[in-house]
This record gives sequence, structure tokens and C-alpha cells, in this order.
Amino acid sequence: MRIIYNSSLGYNKMSSSENLRIAIQKSGRLSDDSISLFKECGIRLEAGKGRLKSDSPNFKAEFLFLRDDDIPGYVEDGVADLGIVGENVLVESSRTVDVIMKLGFSKCRLSLAVPREAVYNGADFFRNKNIATSYPKLLGNYLKENNITAQIHEISGSVEIAPSIGLADAVCDIVSSGSTLLSNGLKEVEVIFKSEAVLIGNQHLSEQKKVILDKLLFRINAVLKAQNYKYILLNAPNDKLQEVISFLPGMKSPTIMPLAEEGWSSVHSVLEENEFWENIEALRAAGAQGILVIPIEKMIY
Ligand code: ATP
Ligand code: MG
Repeated sequence: MRIIYNSSLGYNKMSSSENLRIAIQKSGRLSDDSISLFKECGIRLEAGKGRLKSDSPNFKAEFLFLRDDDIPGYVEDGVADLGIVGENVLVESSRTVDVIMKLGFSKCRLSLAVPREAVYNGADFFRNKNIATSYPKLLGNYLKENNITAQIHEISGSVEIAPSIGLADAVCDIVSSGSTLLSNGLKEVEVIFKSEAVLIGNQHLSEQKKVILDKLLFRINAVLKAQNYKYILLNAPNDKLQEVISFLPGMKSPTIMPLAEEGWSSVHSVLEENEFWENIEALRAAGAQGILVIPIEKMIY
């Protein structure tokens, strides 16, 4: 924060140019997870109540709350330094920005769907058909790669009703569970793009901003890493310890503490969630008992 003296107005606080400006979706499917990510990184921000901008009181960052479609352009132009947006919107925008990291939330797919009663035998179905979508570029790429000529009918929303009102023969739209397609009498037939939220950055950040970005990335990595791992505690008879710990690689190696009951130990370790489910039967067979699995908030190597 810079304090500038202005003789007519007295002291004015001006937002420092060193702050990282981060654009996030104002309201929608990316908003809650974007805000939670920064909060889990210990970065306070106020959102909601029609707010368009918020300065963090405890990190050199200010947040802009925008429509997701506008975020790639703001980041490319340098109005924002960073942004969180779905890969679908990013690719469709054709903007030139750095994709800094995938964030693991807002996972969805862009799919082609046809009326439920249509006979579908492959992508040739779409030849010379009229396809409604909000993603003309991504759809155009897919059609080109598959040598299919079709008409792309661009509409900005409610794509899934296009076939039932005679506007199109098929749709190309975002799907997560598929229930919206089903309730509109459509079936998903081709997945053309898989998407998740990504952190994007302007390509010409100042050195000062890169330093703040490094601090932010350190925190985001610790939060994302922790989401995939669990802290595991279990009891095991001492004569089975070697076998039990062979299933628990841990960050370095497991911690082993004696239990009050003679001949038994408590084993603590960190495991990737997938590894846990793969190894749980083996651990029990090796003599592990009283297994507790606890979420980890942050993980720093
Ligand atoms: P805005 O008003 O900001 O333009 P929008 O209506 O265009 O918002 P949302 O529906 O909030 O967009 O979706 C934002 C992004 O979230 C999408 O671009 C996509 O990446 C992802 N997304 C969309 N639908 C789903 C879904 N059902 N599940 C998970 N992620 C989704
Ligand atoms: Mg949008």
C-alpha cells in the first residue's frame, strides 16, 4: 500500500501496483471453489453482496469478480495478473496467457448429444447437420479433425432445448452428470473436450509480481497436495510391524510409538488416498487394527 500526499485532499491510500490482481468468477460454478482455494491458502478476501473488487487484508492480492468469459481477455491484456477459469472457456477464447496449473475442480466435459430416438453409428452422423453450441471454436476443431462438414449454430445459453424447438439436429454442450441432457430428451454420444478449472497468468508479469506469485503457488501446491493425501494411524502387534509398514511408505518413513499395552505399537503415516484403498485389505491381513484416516489441511515437502 502506498500513501500519497495530496495537498487538496489530504492523505489518500492508493492500491499498490505490487499487488497481484486475481480475477475470479463473480457468481457461478467456479466461484465457491475459487474462493475456498484462496481461503485455504490463508488469504482473506471478502466476496458476495454485488462486490466487484476486494483487497486482501493479509496478502498482496486484490480480487476482481467477473463473468468467466471475460477472465482470459482481462488476463491477456494485463488488467488482471492471474485468473481462474475453465479450460473450455480458455480455449474457446483464443487468448494468449500462461496456464500455470490445473486446480482439480469444476471438472466437466464438452460433449455432442443427439435426440434420444436418433440412430447413432458414429461421428458421421453429424455430416451436414445443424449443431447448436456456445463453443463454436472447440466444436469447429473437432469437426475439422474428423473431416466432417456441418453447420455450427452458435447460441449463448439453453443449448439443450435447441433440437426440441427445431433449431438444430444436435447439440454440443457442457456435461457433468448428464441429467440435463436426459431431461431434454437427448443422449450424449461423443466427448470432444475434457475440462477443469485452471490458474492462468499474464505473460509479462513484473519481477515483483512474480515473487508474490511464487508465494501464492507455494501455498496452492500445499493445499492441492493435501487434498490427495490422508494421515493414517493404526495399531499393530510388534512382530507384524515390518510387514505393516511395507504398505505405508509415508513422506519419509512411518512414525512408530509404543502403545501402553505391551507388544503393540501405534503407526502413523501419510498415504495417497488411492494407495490407501488399494492397501487397506493388505494392512488388515498383516495385523493392523484400529485404523483411523484423517484429512490433512496443508502438506509441505
Ligand atoms: P458467467 O455468468 O460467469 O458467464 P456461466 O453461466 O458462463 O457463468 P457456469 O455455468 O457458472 O458459467 O460455469 C462456469 C464453468 O464451470 C464452465 O465454463 C465449466 O468450466 C464449469 N462447469 C460448467 N458446468 C459444470 C458442471 N455441471 N459441473 C462442473 N463444472 C462445470
Ligand atoms: Mg460464462
